[in-house]
Amino acid sequence: MNGFDLKGKVAIVTGGNGGIGLGMARGLAAAGASVAVAARDMAKSATAVKSLETLGAQAFAVEVDVTLEPSVAAMVQAVADRFGRLDILVNNAGINIRKSPETYTLDEWRRILDTNLTSAFMCSKAVYPHMRKAGGGKIINVGSMTSLFGASFAVPYGASKGGIVQLTRGLASAWAKDGIQVNAVLPGWIDTELTLQARKDVPGLHDRVLARTPAGRWGVPDDLSGVAVFLASPASDFVTGAAIPVDGGYSIQG
Ligand code: NDP
Repeated sequence: MNGFDLKGKVAIVTGGNGGIGLGMARGLAAAGASVAVAARDMAKSATAVKSLETLGAQAFAVEVDVTLEPSVAAMVQAVADRFGRLDILVNNAGINIRKSPETYTLDEWRRILDTNLTSAFMCSKAVYPHMRKAGGGKIINVGSMTSLFGASFAVPYGASKGGIVQLTRGLASAWAKDGIQVNAVLPGWIDTELTLQARKDVPGLHDRVLARTPAGRWGVPDDLSGVAVFLASPASDFVTGAAIPVDGGYSIQG
């Protein structure tokens, strides 16, 4: 038996139309899963779906704003209607606004917390009845190095990502009885649209990341595909509530 086989499984990846989400979606698709790419920009999602189909997977785009509960409910229903089941949820959608903490408006704080943390709660809650009915499931939450460290230029983001780790542990404890494993992945610095902007906003960031990362490079989205397959597959059935850094050693560098 191949413990990493995802044939016949159905996954939703929020923010799956680019960056880390698409890297994870590619891993799941290559391992045999059918993948729903869930995001706001449907043109970008259509391109992502095409690239997943070249891996031999069934893929489809579903429009969602993860900050809105009715939109999340409609996303889950659309996937259940299309594939008849739901086994894997990747809570990956996220945003950041970088500046000094005293300059955030309450609206900005809420936008970041809603997109990065409350969304993961809402999506998990929405898939739970489907996974419970199926006798199990896998939820993968995307945290960050700021789940571990303070970042002076990303205080609300860090609060949301710290929250992701505790949400993961709480849901893992609650839903183990239903055969649902809930884990978090903490990416290091990965080259995506999000961090392209970070490198513009934060002077010296690019070189500081290189200097601190033992692997000696920035990550790429496909660096996250293996951990996604592991956490989505039977290979991780006894792993739950974990927060796994995928960071080229950034978090262990003294
Ligand atoms: P990108 O900006 O490339 O991707 C963000 C994704 O989130 C997009 O697909 C976007 O799609 C989606 N998204 C944003 N807001 C919403 C919303 N309201 N509803 C639905 N989808 C939404 O960034 P990354 O790939 O870098 O980030 C992905 C995740 O990884 C985030 O949670 C981020 O915090 C985390 N992360 C990234 C790191 C990095 O170094 N890059 C490091 C650590 C964590 P659309 O705009 O079409 O809705």
